[in-house]
Amino acid sequence: MEKHRVMILGTGPAGLTAAIYAARANLEPVVVEGNQPGGQLTQTTEVENFPGFPDGIMGPELMDQMRRQAERFGARFLTGWVTSVDLSSRPFRVVVDEQTTYAADALIVSTGASAKMLGIPGEADLLGHGVSTCATCDGFFFRGKRILVVGGGDSAMEEALFLTKFASEVTVVHRRHELRASKVMQERARNHPKIKWVLNVTPVAVHGENGKVSGLEVRDNASGEQQVLPAEGVFVAIGHTPNTDFLRGQLELDERGYIRTRGVSSVTSVEGVFACGDVMDPHYRQAITAAGSGCKAAMDAEKWLEGSMVHDWSVTASTPS
Ligand code: NAP
Repeated sequence: MEKHRVMILGTGPAGLTAAIYAARANLEPVVVEGNQPGGQLTQTTEVENFPGFPDGIMGPELMDQMRRQAERFGARFLTGWVTSVDLSSRPFRVVVDEQTTYAADALIVSTGASAKMLGIPGEADLLGHGVSTCATCDGFFFRGKRILVVGGGDSAMEEALFLTKFASEVTVVHRRHELRASKVMQERARNHPKIKWVLNVTPVAVHGENGKVSGLEVRDNASGEQQVLPAEGVFVAIGHTPNTDFLRGQLELDERGYIRTRGVSSVTSVEGVFACGDVMDPHYRQAITAAGSGCKAAMDAEKWLEGSMVHDWSVTASTPS
């Protein structure tokens, strides 16, 4: 069985930054790529808010550059899906594709979160061409355009409010009459003059013209009638799922499945296991915050491996609600 000092699970900005730092610390990290190498950023087009790229950079290119930077310092990449781990004793065991077992002294979990999708025709084809799951990333491209935001939770309200800065009009499309969002967020959205509402409808299909979104077809839940709401943008804001199924029962997760970390560190409930990026952060969810937390995870792992981690992180537990 191959044994490594550090294994990093996931190759979004968190995992790749952890790989750069761990490699530069001579820990010879082995990084497991999963089935979406580069993570969520590979699904976006231009990234304009990652510092250091004044003219913007395409999401896939940014991830490719981070990967090459990690490789330059000796990080090694494995393609495969982590199907299970055994954290009950050290070295930890990591099973990839249900076949190959690796051993690792320290683990950095950076498996990210996946935006929930509606799963309707047109949605996947038009992702990045009018369909988006991130207003902070893509809102800027919709100046003066009509935008639909699907969802009735806090994320949908937040996205809708944020998008009013760019869009000519924002319509929240929700499957019930009642919103799930907190009162304060509901009020803010309801009082905004640019936000309109189409409630109690089920999204049926995303329509496109010339490869770009032209509208969203919805069915009225009361009458059963269908109509196409014209728009250039459809933002799906129906929640995220952290990719932690393989950790259940082994590592402390919060009620939504996010990994709990201690204080401002990447330390988890299992000594020697560190977490970074969207898999432990339901709140900020940005490439730059994920990258920053990846740096912390590699530094924490390095300190722990050399036996010099002294801070008692158990004093404060933090997963923002
Ligand atoms: P959420 O609270 O789970 O809301 C998801 C929304 O999407 C619900 O309204 C749900 O409808 C709808 N939905 C789910 N699946 C759907 C589907 N297949 N088709 C159509 N609609 C669907 O998720 P969230 O808004 O991302 O929030 C997650 C957590 O983060 C919450 O605890 C929230 O309070 C927190 N958060 C807080 C803030 C803030 O305070 N600023 C901002 C963002 C998120 P139903 O209501 O009918 O189930």
